[in-house]
Amino acid sequence: MIFDTPASGAHGATLTIDLGALVANWRALGERAGAGAEAGAVVKADAYGIGIEPAVTALSRAGCRSFFVAHVSEGIRARAVAPEAPVYVLNGLLPGSCDVFAQHELSPVLGSHEELLEWAAFRQTGANARPAALHVDTAMNRLGLWAGEGLNLAREKAGAISAAGIGLVMSHFASSEDETDPANARQIAAFAEIAAAFPGLPASLKNSSGHFLKECPSYQLTRPGYGLYGGNPTPGLPNPMRPVVGLESRIIQVREVEPGTQVGYNGRWTAKRKSRLATICLGYADGYPRNASWTDKSTGGSAIVGGVACPFVGSVSMDLIIVDVTAAPVAAAKRGEPATLIGGALDLETVGAGAKTIGYEILTSLGRRHARRYVGL
Ligand SMILES: *Cc1c(COP(=O)(O)O)cnc(C)c1O
Repeated sequence: MIFDTPASGAHGATLTIDLGALVANWRALGERAGAGAEAGAVVKADAYGIGIEPAVTALSRAGCRSFFVAHVSEGIRARAVAPEAPVYVLNGLLPGSCDVFAQHELSPVLGSHEELLEWAAFRQTGANARPAALHVDTAMNRLGLWAGEGLNLAREKAGAISAAGIGLVMSHFASSEDETDPANARQIAAFAEIAAAFPGLPASLKNSSGHFLKECPSYQLTRPGYGLYGGNPTPGLPNPMRPVVGLESRIIQVREVEPGTQVGYNGRWTAKRKSRLATICLGYADGYPRNASWTDKSTGGSAIVGGVACPFVGSVSMDLIIVDVTAAPVAAAKRGEPATLIGGALDLETVGAGAKTIGYEILTSLGRRHARRYVGL
């Protein structure tokens, strides 16, 4: 696709993004949402790192009709490639920003009474604005009106809700990836009451993991993010989504070290046996977390070389990572050969765990420094 980085041989690593798999994941979640519901797409944070323009373009062509971003700046980018679709800005309305929402036909997700009043007042001036969404908090204590406030507003017949031109009512799960968390049932019940109080309005509750909760209605619109990009919405169970992102670097140098040799900045890893070490061309400046360093005291990340998972050794540097390739086939552990950082057995959850974080953070940190190859469409 037109979004590819030119001259990929000039980069230390290549990110391959399968837009066909992205679309397939969106369709699969839409089917899971069931009859009467449709899946939107959460494309905040540069579409979780894969690129907002390619993601929105591919999903729009496939029929996706609602997009969610976090910031106005992201909304403007989504709007540029999706001229018609509602684009909801989840972080809501910063004071004095109504004009920019209207100018780009963005829909604020109103998360407090103040926001609601500011937007309603703006609409009263005759401004030509798209319908907004109303966010009701059912557990997070982060953004959204209190459930009681939402119910009170629903009872006011000609109040702020109609003045603000609300087109969607929504809430957000706090722990839907953990089916056993009792907070899920409480949120489902609280939101059922909210949705019933706004009978004329479409409603939206499910994030990616929400699609896999039992006994949870999909309402009219769902808001998957992570699962679209291949993240596992059911951690601990087989991943129902197709992988979207692959990251591959290359070996620049290989050496043998004797037992007792210290490796990398501050010598934080010591060879326990004679070892073959390969240095690969990416580091924390490429978005690979330094917390994936593998030291004498802690385990870390790994790369696949010649089909074998090889642990990192020592600190992840800014532009380089050292990998213990002793167990890899010699022919594969050579200068110029590939090393896979994301892909195959190294799925997003495994990579996240190796860096003491979650797959979401791995995805959204994917560096701007990689060559990018968009495939699958
Ligand atoms: C990020 C976000 C989502 C998407 O969540 P995933 O777990 O990535 O599917 C949905 N709704 C809101 C309000 C969000 O902030």
